[in-house]
Amino acid sequence: MELASPKVGLVSLGCPKALVDSERIVTRLRAEGYQIVGDYAGADMVLVNTCGFLDSARAESLEAIGEALAENGKVVVTGCLGKEADLIRREHPGVLAITGPHQYEQVMGAIHDVLPPAHDPYQDLVPEAGLRLTPRHYAYLKISEGCNNRCSFCIIPHLRGDLVSRPLAQVMFEAEALVRSGVKELLVISQDTSAYGQDLKYAASNWKGTEYQTRFLDLAQALGTLGVWVRMHYVYPYPHVDNVLPLMAEGKILPYLDIPFQHASPRVLKAMRRPANQEKVLERLAAWRKIVPDLAIRSTFIVGFPGETEEDFDDLLDWLEDAQIDRLGCFKYEPVAGAPSNDLPGAVPEEVKQERYDRLMELQQDISAKKQIAKIGRELDVIIDDVDEDEATGRTYADAPEIDGNIYLDGENELQIGEIVRVRVTDADAYDLWGEVVE
Ligand code: SF4
Repeated sequence: MELASPKVGLVSLGCPKALVDSERIVTRLRAEGYQIVGDYAGADMVLVNTCGFLDSARAESLEAIGEALAENGKVVVTGCLGKEADLIRREHPGVLAITGPHQYEQVMGAIHDVLPPAHDPYQDLVPEAGLRLTPRHYAYLKISEGCNNRCSFCIIPHLRGDLVSRPLAQVMFEAEALVRSGVKELLVISQDTSAYGQDLKYAASNWKGTEYQTRFLDLAQALGTLGVWVRMHYVYPYPHVDNVLPLMAEGKILPYLDIPFQHASPRVLKAMRRPANQEKVLERLAAWRKIVPDLAIRSTFIVGFPGETEEDFDDLLDWLEDAQIDRLGCFKYEPVAGAPSNDLPGAVPEEVKQERYDRLMELQQDISAKKQIAKIGRELDVIIDDVDEDEATGRTYADAPEIDGNIYLDGENELQIGEIVRVRVTDADAYDLWGEVVE
């Protein structure tokens, strides 16, 4: 049986650049099985690609939108006049979605919302949210590629270039598709999440009729409206991160921050060429915990960096005592081919690296164990990752998948994967918890 193709009417106004945009959109539409039709009556919806350069062109665009609304009723607007969404909405409140020039992903998202593509047995082998390697109930959401920092042990900027952020609306369209496909937890990743949007000068991005900026705070706000767990990874403690803490206090995003501190000794940090001002970090952590007492902080550290002295290492241990990090990963320094740190003097012998690693992990185990034991008796939400005949395994807000701990629910073999249940914590060790579902 052949299914009818959904039909899109296209009105393309403006200059050759707008025409190129129209061609790209048409190409995508055709590839997804839409038909492009030349009259309003035969179309299931109309896309108007506008021009906003001169007053006369703006007037023509507004008129074309009005005509499409009168003749067809279902209208999505894109193109240069899309930058003036307020004006369009004032004149034509019936418009279903507005996107700006060159925003192909957003236009396609808006069209999908109004007129879903027909079932395509070849394309539909790939689910709407793309193929993912994570289980169905959580997904990684990559918001940018590359990095503007130049940490001396890292070759990522060399491999992937400077920071290139995805516009906020584009990230949100993907996030929405993931949620629609059953994802209950979004893990936001990048090389430097707090720098998100710097390269785009925090450009405005319209998502669901709201004007956001492409920046960390706005992304957290927008993701916080989706009604799923949102977990932030690779955040640096820049001052502007403070603004995200109230969203955690309100329950919009998880009170969890993954901050790769890497070290605490100012000398080592300088040799590592790490971003952010480390001296203020302890004050910042204390201020954050005042706003969100339950804040869980995960971090990674490198021991045995070239030139790290016993004193530097003691600084790190002292700092950890003060910082009371919840979750910690530790690496012994390894020279990566091409990293500038390979040329630094003062290579640390392997046995010293190992000894420092052991001391650091021992200290952290004590800190973690105390923090975990303090959770006994508390009630927490738990997302279920796995169920077998004996027990269910899940995670609390403080545990990212794969890298943090688990909570085990003995005898709970009827819970569903991806379900979020209320659990009373009954036992703990330095990494994991045990608990029972609260009826
Ligand atoms: S370690 Fe992270 S922040 Fe530093 S250069 Fe590499 S990717 Fe960027």
